[in-house]
Amino acid sequence: MRFLASRVRSHLVFNHCFYRLHFRMASSSTTVKKDAFPFDKQRLEGTLLNRFFYAPAFEIYGGVAGLYDYGPPGASLQANIINEWRKHFIIEEHMLELDTTIMTPAPVFETSGHVARFMDWMVKDSQTGDVLRADHLVKNVLEARLAGDKEARGLAVQPPVDDKDKKKKVKKVKGKVGVKLEDEVVAEYENILAQLDNYTGLELGELCRKYKITNPDTDNEVSEPQPFNLMFASSIGPTGQHPGYLRPETAQGHFMNFSRLLSFNNGKLPFASAQIGRSFRNEISPRAGLLRVREFTMAEIEHYVDPEDKTHERFHEVRDVELDLLPRDVQSSGNTKVTRMTVGEAVKKGIIANETLGYFVARIYLFLTKIGINPARLRFRQHMKNEMAHYACDCWDAEIHNSTGWTECVGCADRSAYDLTVHSKKTGIPLIASQQLEEPIVIEKEVVQFNKRTLGKMFGKELPVIQNIVNDMDEVSLQKLKGELAQGVATIVSSEGREFKLTPDLLTIERQTIKQSIREYTPNVIEPSFGLGRILYCLLEHSFWSREQDVERVVLSLPPIIAPTKVLIVPLSTKRFDHLVRDVSSKLRKSGVFSSVDDSNQSIGRRYARNDALGTPYGVTLDFASLQKGTMTLRERDTTEQLIGPIDEVIAVVTELVQGTIDWAEARQRLPAYDGVQALD
Ligand code: AMP
Repeated sequence: MRFLASRVRSHLVFNHCFYRLHFRMASSSTTVKKDAFPFDKQRLEGTLLNRFFYAPAFEIYGGVAGLYDYGPPGASLQANIINEWRKHFIIEEHMLELDTTIMTPAPVFETSGHVARFMDWMVKDSQTGDVLRADHLVKNVLEARLAGDKEARGLAVQPPVDDKDKKKKVKKVKGKVGVKLEDEVVAEYENILAQLDNYTGLELGELCRKYKITNPDTDNEVSEPQPFNLMFASSIGPTGQHPGYLRPETAQGHFMNFSRLLSFNNGKLPFASAQIGRSFRNEISPRAGLLRVREFTMAEIEHYVDPEDKTHERFHEVRDVELDLLPRDVQSSGNTKVTRMTVGEAVKKGIIANETLGYFVARIYLFLTKIGINPARLRFRQHMKNEMAHYACDCWDAEIHNSTGWTECVGCADRSAYDLTVHSKKTGIPLIASQQLEEPIVIEKEVVQFNKRTLGKMFGKELPVIQNIVNDMDEVSLQKLKGELAQGVATIVSSEGREFKLTPDLLTIERQTIKQSIREYTPNVIEPSFGLGRILYCLLEHSFWSREQDVERVVLSLPPIIAPTKVLIVPLSTKRFDHLVRDVSSKLRKSGVFSSVDDSNQSIGRRYARNDALGTPYGVTLDFASLQKGTMTLRERDTTEQLIGPIDEVIAVVTELVQGTIDWAEARQRLPAYDGVQALD
């Protein structure tokens, strides 16, 4: 989570590199060329809409920006990603799963800091009143000017032909496109873009004035940035006297249940809770498809750890994982060059703050690449000082490159003891863990005794406020208070500046020697926070290509573990193969393999092509040889290679392929290649 900062970064859009992909099938000799032509976003979006991966919600009523519905392949894809996420994190790490409510009473978010600080900066067009997000405005305009400069210097990287929105923005920044900039100005712009997330609202306003940044749609000046709270407010109950909010993250639901979770875990730390659920953010002007929406599914982990020991017992398993890291100081110097290093090295050098944070950064990398994110388009960017949320002491975002630039898809923050501390203070309920000490320790400390009856009589409902102020005091402050009380009267001040006068009859402070055999502490929290829609969309971009010899047809190379449908059953013609189709379909179902049948009367090639666009990794064809000899062919989507074998053997092989226990190279050892002849024997 980020406060008062931008939440999607997409730098240097026009430094747009279309990653050329040569996928090598695992352990296979077959190299599939997936770079027949550059990525075409319009085409991908057309395919996704036609195949109903997802579509604007409430479309027949005109739709609402930032709300989308997932159709059958999109919903299955998301469910499969969630399934892998549950295996990779919850099951692998014995996490405690939760499902907490979305509607949250206001005091929870007042205490967590969301009411005061969960905001973005917005500016208004001085003439039309249109609202824009301030950091996005600065980014879009400066990037367009840099693109114009490149054009003028003859170095232009073509604006992505696929992206209508961007083209519009480039055109409308009047007089700036194609204009050569001074070298120092280029350097200044690049510097600003490299640390865009670090600017305050005031600074964004200054940038708009200094660089004459106007609304690209109208060329009108914009207002000073104003904070805009992103939470959807509501009220609970018929009278409206209980204000509430739709949660903007699932995390607070975990913290509310901390004590129960700890006791469920037999009081032992470290442990983690995990939750997959919907969150809501009233984004200022969502125009980036699934990358910026107002309602989305999050998967969040809160890992509770002793603040004095942030080592991780499984760190050795990930020590050698290599990552592209973009540390904070590199960005502050105006640079976005990544450094490749192992997680072990990054933690050792203090670049990543501790082992537990490093462990999760590496596990995030392993998860994303397992489900099909291209590792060459994945980097971990450390938050800059101003960008970091008020509770965090270190934070790394997993950013995935896509056609809009680099987008934060997973945040991984060390939230320190912030949340448990503030909720505990507010409610008076201790949210702490305890540890039995091997050797008891003897300490001397100031101990406070409140005379609650007299205090209650004098201050009524203010009693807990006074207790909180005193309980929060460190040794030095307590000694000072003790001294003042000895003089007859002492004044204490609450965080809101309210003063209370105390006299010695209300409380006593005494120095005592205490033998402690139990250490009590507030756990720190390491939080990996995933936005599933962003990951899903980037995955679709990374998987999308066309065959060199057949550019009209598109393919989604989704890994079998997450593909919506695993196997397509294609009978040669309808009626004669019905019983075989039923038989194969039932056997696949019994093996746990999700299949679908395409018995339309189109050619087999066309039927396969249609399912390549749905990401279906395998196809089996039932033809006359199936009737005569009991054989079936098996086709692999990316290579289009085909194998043949007895129906049951093919089912066994494809089941293992889908489960990931064998790869295509091994399948080729198990079944002979199909050259198109056997079927006609
Ligand atoms: P944050 O709490 O802002 O760090 O967000 C955690 C994750 O939620 C991000 O890494 C994104 O994947 C996702 N996310 C945040 N805001 C949005 C949004 N408006 N639309 C889609 N995903 C989002």
